[in-house]
Amino acid sequence: MTAISEQMWELDTVEGVRDFLSSLPDNHIRLQNFIGNDFAQHSDPDNWIESFNPRTGNLLAKVPQSNASDVSRAVEAASQAFPSWSKTSRQERSDILLRIAAIIHEKKEVFAVWESLDQGKTLARARVEVERAISNFRYFATYILHEEGSARFVDGQISTLTYEHRSPVGVFALISPWNMPLYLLTWKIAPCIAFGCTGVAKPSEVTSVTAFCKELFIQIQVKSTHSSLVLGEVFRQAKLPAGVMNLIFGDGPGAGSTLVRSPLVRGVSFTGGIRTGITIRRDTVEDIGKHLSLELGGKNPTLVFDDVDLDQAIPIAAQAAFENSGQICLCGSRIYVHRAIYDRFVSAFVDYVKKNYRCGETVGPVVSLAHYDKIRSYLLQAQSEKATFLTGEIPVEIPTGGYWIEPTVLGDLGTESIVMREEIFGPVVTIAPFDTEHEAIRLANDNPNGLASILLTRDGSRMRRVGEQIDAGLVWVNCWLVRELGTAFGGMKASGTGREGGAHSRDVFTNLRTLHIR
Ligand code: NAD
Repeated sequence: MTAISEQMWELDTVEGVRDFLSSLPDNHIRLQNFIGNDFAQHSDPDNWIESFNPRTGNLLAKVPQSNASDVSRAVEAASQAFPSWSKTSRQERSDILLRIAAIIHEKKEVFAVWESLDQGKTLARARVEVERAISNFRYFATYILHEEGSARFVDGQISTLTYEHRSPVGVFALISPWNMPLYLLTWKIAPCIAFGCTGVAKPSEVTSVTAFCKELFIQIQVKSTHSSLVLGEVFRQAKLPAGVMNLIFGDGPGAGSTLVRSPLVRGVSFTGGIRTGITIRRDTVEDIGKHLSLELGGKNPTLVFDDVDLDQAIPIAAQAAFENSGQICLCGSRIYVHRAIYDRFVSAFVDYVKKNYRCGETVGPVVSLAHYDKIRSYLLQAQSEKATFLTGEIPVEIPTGGYWIEPTVLGDLGTESIVMREEIFGPVVTIAPFDTEHEAIRLANDNPNGLASILLTRDGSRMRRVGEQIDAGLVWVNCWLVRELGTAFGGMKASGTGREGGAHSRDVFTNLRTLHIR
């Protein structure tokens, strides 16, 4: 590595990165694709996507707008790497995954700082997500060493030994959104390579920096072709064979769609919005054998029953609403409270939010100007429907100095309001009363989405009775965002198709055949 790239690889404080960026003439970085373990200039060097720092609104990075030939080169690299990678032993794959985990662990502050800068999340939140990225690799590294299978002896006219055998599917497209860039991309990359597949990962064009392999500045380009950083560099240092995992940058309708439709791509693991999920399903419908896992959006209910201890319930409901500025698919963005405690809950909840969720301290900006505008449009809609702004206000139309939106609690909206029904994906939560348990379940389920839900109650029988009736892939009772990586993750209804986690990820990345041996 050159002196400058070494400096970047060591940049583990916000101040350090800020000074570094301001020392550059253009104050921004340029990303490059990572194909076959090499950092590659994209084919059309005049075509970039601009990515802005959410805290300031200033240009942070230029992201390659990869075209069909870039995508094709990445898919080809993955395709060539597949025959030998798919035959490596579990132990060998496990060792490499553990090395990747160890390197990210060693560099975790570097990842956290870039993740926070790129997405706008607080450093505390970024640190949690980097830890989870490390766990993703550790979990699948050990899972594959302890896989269980089944074999049976079948006696009949012909006696057979019958057993199930799995083999890796092939090349995967791994496509992730912008809200938890490293955490979600590694949730796909780790099982993909653990189960013997190879892949092309495409992070969101809005947040690409932590997946970036080589920070190449105009000046540095002249001086060096070896500066490298972050995930691509981790793969190289971990000695992941060339082509096993490739990273390309670009937008969805261009690079993403080309990748998904490639006939060499035998599976797609996608996390993102529902509309994109529908497009991907449509784009792959003719290729019937292509594996498809779709993790989509949510509009998740938080149900607060009248037996709760408010001191315990309120922090959970508030965290579920406002963590990462409400930009987590699992956020509880519509709170329903039993009428018997409604007034007390609302008053204490609002006090708690005002005290604990403060922009610039515990709350970051939202990710981009386009997203700011989208959230603002829902707040204007709420205003036009005469919602009560219990906290927050309509943000300015043209923000200067970053994309900041106050944590907003909205009351007095009708259940048919689009503000109550559609995913806003920002620091906005609605709050409404219910009278009976039956009504609470009905309100929770009266939505096209079915990703997650939160139940706050001390009644043990209600936990099961209500929990088992909620149409949501994940139900948290008196907690939120707790995950055991072996359990199923995914949504019902419009929130997705398929599950990932443990054996469910194995289903995504392997083909299953049953052998009958006489
Ligand atoms: P998005 O659907 O706009 O984009 C997600 C990714 O898909 C990006 O990398 C984008 O470039 C790519 N893409 C867009 N069009 C494509 C196409 N036609 N073909 C292939 N790829 C394409 O979503 P977003 O705005 O980045 O993320 C926010 C959404 O993600 C929210 O709805 C949120 O709920 C959801 N999400 C879901 C989960 C989950 O696990 N269920 C987790 C996080 C976020």
